[in-house]
Amino acid sequence: MNVKVVCPSCGKVNNIPKKETYAKANCGQCKASMLDQKPLDVNRTEMLHILVNSEIPVMVDFWAPWCGPCVQMTPAYEAASKEMSLKVQFLKVNTETNQGLGALYGIQSIPTILMFKDGEEIGTNTGSLTKEELIRWATRFT
Ligand SMILES: [Zn+2]
Repeated sequence: MNVKVVCPSCGKVNNIPKKETYAKANCGQCKASMLDQKPLDVNRTEMLHILVNSEIPVMVDFWAPWCGPCVQMTPAYEAASKEMSLKVQFLKVNTETNQGLGALYGIQSIPTILMFKDGEEIGTNTGSLTKEELIRWATRFT
């Protein structure tokens, strides 16, 4: 069984065998390792591209540079993203530069994390989380 995953480095849709763990997985286009997933900073177009093309759950952190708890959560979000490579795709939306996107999803306060599967919103969490809490929360949707 294969699963479609959007390369976090170049945006190419990769069709990869679905496995419990991966020793190696490189993007067919840019050759970057998809096991070293960094949260991708996206705008509306990029976010929609990933939501419609990704067959793994997609997690989106709505944040802003002026928001202390958001900035504080950044290292935890990056560490959780790396650990959950090919299980959950991690995105970030800067609500300062993408105000329409925050409004579209009814974001009231930040940080707010949304989880999507097959383009549908399936989970919300408001407030800062640790790496362990992020992984525990995200795992519920895998
Ligand atoms: Zn790539």
